[in-house]
Amino acid sequence: MPPSALSRRDFARAAGAGVAAAVVGRALPARASAPARPIALDSNENPWGPSPKALEAMTASQSVAARYPDALERKVADAVARLHGVEPERVVLGCGSGEVLRMADMAFLGPGRKVVVSQPTFEAVIGYAEVIKAEAVTVPQTADYRHDLPRMAAACDGSVGLVYVCNPNNPTATFVTRDELLAFLERVPAATKVVVDEAYFHFAEDPRYASADQWLGRFPNLLVVRTFSKVFGLAGMRLGYAVGSGDAISGMQRHRVFSNGNAAVLEAAAVSLADAAHVERQRQRNASTRSWLYAELAKDGRRYIPSQTNFVMIEVGRDVKPVIQAFRERNIMVGRRFPSMENWLRITIGTPEEMDAFVAALREIVPARGGRAA
Ligand code: PMP
Repeated sequence: MPPSALSRRDFARAAGAGVAAAVVGRALPARASAPARPIALDSNENPWGPSPKALEAMTASQSVAARYPDALERKVADAVARLHGVEPERVVLGCGSGEVLRMADMAFLGPGRKVVVSQPTFEAVIGYAEVIKAEAVTVPQTADYRHDLPRMAAACDGSVGLVYVCNPNNPTATFVTRDELLAFLERVPAATKVVVDEAYFHFAEDPRYASADQWLGRFPNLLVVRTFSKVFGLAGMRLGYAVGSGDAISGMQRHRVFSNGNAAVLEAAAVSLADAAHVERQRQRNASTRSWLYAELAKDGRRYIPSQTNFVMIEVGRDVKPVIQAFRERNIMVGRRFPSMENWLRITIGTPEEMDAFVAALREIVPARGGRAA
């Protein structure tokens, strides 16, 4: 079921629904104590929330609530354009980057115009493609859980309208290097749009990682997509954007609902982009909690994929569906099951207290059995 038809949490619920009854073989341990409020480690949100300045800006936005947000949209598009060193006409805003990805599908795909994706990856692009009867070509990931860019480039023949590169990738939390990405951009035909989704850009720390925005002047078929839902902590407010060539962006604008941004999130986005200290604080909190999680996983000898994001893939050694359900019974929401990685659990980095609860529950549900980082 594509994300277009189900919300993220509905999606997770559907993935876990009824599976406990269907489980065969080893029974899962009975639940111990469940936290009173659900712990949400399923959607890669930011558990620390927006910056205090963004909260203030949202409160102040009540004074312009009666007005259409056109001027605010221009303000944010200008700030985004400055950030990426392009003209504001080369920016399109969306109701979350989900809408931006949908606009890209609508503009560049259709019957006979395919999309190429790695498997597994964030499914929105595939879900929206299905709606407009565009075929998805899935390219298996490499043995080290990364996009196989040479194979993806080779798949881009004349029938491919768009190739989607999620960097870092959801759900594997792996990345492709600057050099790999450049070689890929040089290979993909000019008639195929390359969408590089950088939703998790701010969390990537490997020195070989780089944003594709540096090549916006060189490749007119390149689009870079970002969101305010992750490091900026504004997932509930909905704002994302794409930056690309004037032609590509105006093609996408045709599929945009006018005034799709609201005043509150636009005000918050403008101050968030200017608040580098807050971004750094969020990045550090994420990195230190993630290191703590690694240490706990290592104590148990569990296998996990080192992450460049705010989530981690952990191998559970069996089908993850009943494991997801067992966490749900303990009021802990964890990531859904992804194709080709059915024995892996995706867990979002929460607060230290949330991660404590997660690790305790993991030890009950999937007792340690020895192993190492992947
Ligand atoms: N791209 C990626 C890679 C994501 O993981 C997500 C959300 N989990 C999105 C885009 C969509 O985020 P939003 O619509 O909140 O901007």
